[in-house]
Amino acid sequence: MNCFQKRAYINGEWVDASSGKTFPVYNPATGEYIDEVPDMGEAETRFAIDAAHEALKNWKNSSAADRSHLLKRWHQLLLEHKNELARILTTEQGKPLAEALAEVKYGISYIEWFAEEARRIYGDIIPGQDASKRIMVVKEAVGVVGLITPWNFPNAMIARKIGAALAAGCTVVVKPAEATPFSALAMAFLAEKAGFPKGVINVVTTSRPDEVGAEMCTHSKLRKISFTGSTEVGKILMRQSAGTVKRLSLELGGNAPFIVFEDADIDAAIRGLMQSKYRNSGQTCVCANRILVHNSIHVHFLRRLTEETRKLKIGNGFEELVDIGPLINDEAMLKMESLVGDALAKGATCHTGGKKSALGPRFYEPTVLSGITDEMTLCKEEIFGPVSAVSSFDTEEEAIRMANNTNFGLAAYFYGRDIGRIYRVMEALEFGMVGVNTGLLSTVTAPFGGIKESGFGREGSRYGVEEYLNMKYICIGDIK
Ligand code: NAP
Repeated sequence: MNCFQKRAYINGEWVDASSGKTFPVYNPATGEYIDEVPDMGEAETRFAIDAAHEALKNWKNSSAADRSHLLKRWHQLLLEHKNELARILTTEQGKPLAEALAEVKYGISYIEWFAEEARRIYGDIIPGQDASKRIMVVKEAVGVVGLITPWNFPNAMIARKIGAALAAGCTVVVKPAEATPFSALAMAFLAEKAGFPKGVINVVTTSRPDEVGAEMCTHSKLRKISFTGSTEVGKILMRQSAGTVKRLSLELGGNAPFIVFEDADIDAAIRGLMQSKYRNSGQTCVCANRILVHNSIHVHFLRRLTEETRKLKIGNGFEELVDIGPLINDEAMLKMESLVGDALAKGATCHTGGKKSALGPRFYEPTVLSGITDEMTLCKEEIFGPVSAVSSFDTEEEAIRMANNTNFGLAAYFYGRDIGRIYRVMEALEFGMVGVNTGLLSTVTAPFGGIKESGFGREGSRYGVEEYLNMKYICIGDIK
């Protein structure tokens, strides 16, 4: 079966934009044209929302067992086509094929998980306030949901949302990132094969995200938006959704501190940092952004980090043993050059990398910088590239103060062995997720999500499905 699709999917049909317009998608590693997809706007978005609304009545009233069964069928088809999905992902996103396959499997695990959770959506019985009253709480699907997702995980960011939404009984309109629409369309193709009724899943492709986003935010039949992307766009969606008081889940940007205390297992900390920092060429929201190392081990740690970073192989994600693929586009390269240039101008030292690779216009060399200070831009913003930015500290209090000195609150990491300190630090860090002696946090069983300007709402775990459920309180009176 060939999963590659190049038309949008609305109301159970593969369709073009009403204008007939398309936009091209390119391979970030080679710059080669892959294909084009429909360039849709307000009208097609409205049509997709209406189709999802039409499908909602039957879908939300279907049995949990039926929804679970369809999700399991989809899970099975996704598994059978995981290699093809991974190849589509590497072609449009650039990450090494092994990483793409890992992402696809990670995404699939959410479809399986929520197929199981669909059968465990429970309500409550609460003692009434007097003998003639009975109180019930039931959970109901929120309704039609708009899912807006980024390019850095074109498969998994959709899977984390759609599995929970469908399990809860919601229908969806998905708007994938402009750079990576083919992963979304391939997933929809397999959903169609799994047998989801028409209108339950819709995918709208566009190069005008503001137009599609505005229609989603203002349409009264769309009751929730679940967004993963930048804090800047999250704030726009929040403002636009005020008029219809929509529910929102916002998985936004991060600025993760990665603290290494003097009693840490340095080898383990280096391994954890390499995974956290360089996965997806540093283009993840939970990437270690500010690496804070105790002064007494700073020199040794920097030497080890530099050695390991120099071993990373850059290249086209389809080549054997590649660790670091391309950045997503030319703008990302300009950002990397500007962030590193700013840090060097303000006194940072470069130990390796620090420049564009000779491999091509979107390849940036894995880089280690030290002497990072608060006034450097890469300390305040997400780097979103393969650049390790290291600074040092003297005391635990100083490390905590430096770590919390950000408006973001997604992930934080620290390495150390002292049990008292582990508790003190994990409690003091103002982040939605904390990794202690680990550089990897994401897993289907845990509630992924942030606080502060990293957003709100959780994905995965037993909490994930709650994001797509409304609570209804029912009071039955006059029971004689
Ligand atoms: P982005 O620019 O905010 O885009 C995310 C999505 O929003 C894309 O589909 C984009 O469409 C769309 N969009 C852009 N402007 C819009 C508007 N005015 N109205 C509605 N939709 C709009 O973010 P990105 O650069 O793709 O992704 C990187 C960001 O995502 C980083 O900040 C990263 O930290 C964050 N992220 C967070 C998590 C998490 O779980 N917290 C996970 C992954 C990534 P186009 O593609 O057409 O621009």
